[in-house]
Amino acid sequence: MPRETFTYSNDEITVIWKPNVCIHSKLCWTHLRAVFDPFVKPWIHMDGATTERIIEQVNQCPSGALSYEKKKL
Ligand code: SF4
Repeated sequence: MPRETFTYSNDEITVIWKPNVCIHSKLCWTHLRAVFDPFVKPWIHMDGATTERIIEQVNQCPSGALSYEKKKL
């Protein structure tokens, strides 16, 4: 059975991706390819943009497959 949740972290946030929810709109990887690259594994690179830019892109995910949590300081 495929995993339902994958997580990717930098020092400030953890991005959560749920493949079963993803509708493959391509929005994330056409708008921010430095972070979201479906042609390599792992496909999310947290060092590809600032935390603010990653959050901005995550918030545009139309299906809710992408979300994020802020790390506790
Ligand atoms: S933006 Fe969301 S729904 Fe679209 S491909 Fe990325 S994760 Fe999937």
